[in-house]
Amino acid sequence: MTPERVFVGLGANLGDARASLERARSALASLPGTRQVAVSPHFRSEPVDADGPDYLNAVVELETALAPGALWQALQSIEATHGRERPYRNAPRTLDLDLLLYGQRVIDTPALTVPHPRLAQRAFVLLPLLLLAPDLVHPRLGPLDAFRPAVAGQRIERLPPA
Ligand code: ADP
Ligand code: MG
Repeated sequence: MTPERVFVGLGANLGDARASLERARSALASLPGTRQVAVSPHFRSEPVDADGPDYLNAVVELETALAPGALWQALQSIEATHGRERPYRNAPRTLDLDLLLYGQRVIDTPALTVPHPRLAQRAFVLLPLLLLAPDLVHPRLGPLDAFRPAVAGQRIERLPPA
């Protein structure tokens, strides 16, 4: 299988969020058949449809030979090893990993929707994605750069490197 270009969104708003993001990034980069291509800077953003403290977010670009389902299971298990619990919907979380884009594939199963359904509406996903790939094209929505104005009202701050 030819490796695919994949983007994964990372978010954390409990505990040591910076450390959680770094551990998750490193776990992603070490997945079998997988290579890290790039990582965005960290962003601090206000919770959307959720409560709790501000989030730290980042996006990682990978090249992977893992199939989408296998990659998604790997994301779930990295979330689990970071102690994520789901007491209620959109509860604060120590780590959230979202499969944002898997090449140009469109996947619609009960467990997995790719591209991630809300990726163009969330500044904390869109802005780091466009930093890594300014010309990125969504298989359904087209060039993602066009969605910048749609997220312009969301509070988000790019953090300096650690
Ligand atoms: P969100 O990330 O949207 O804030 P959660 O992390 O709580 O929400 O995820 C809720 C569910 O979303 C998970 O149980 C998972 O099965 C499903 N899901 C669907 N598509 C994706 C995707 N592309 N990446 C990650 N989770 C997904
Ligand atoms: Mg998620």
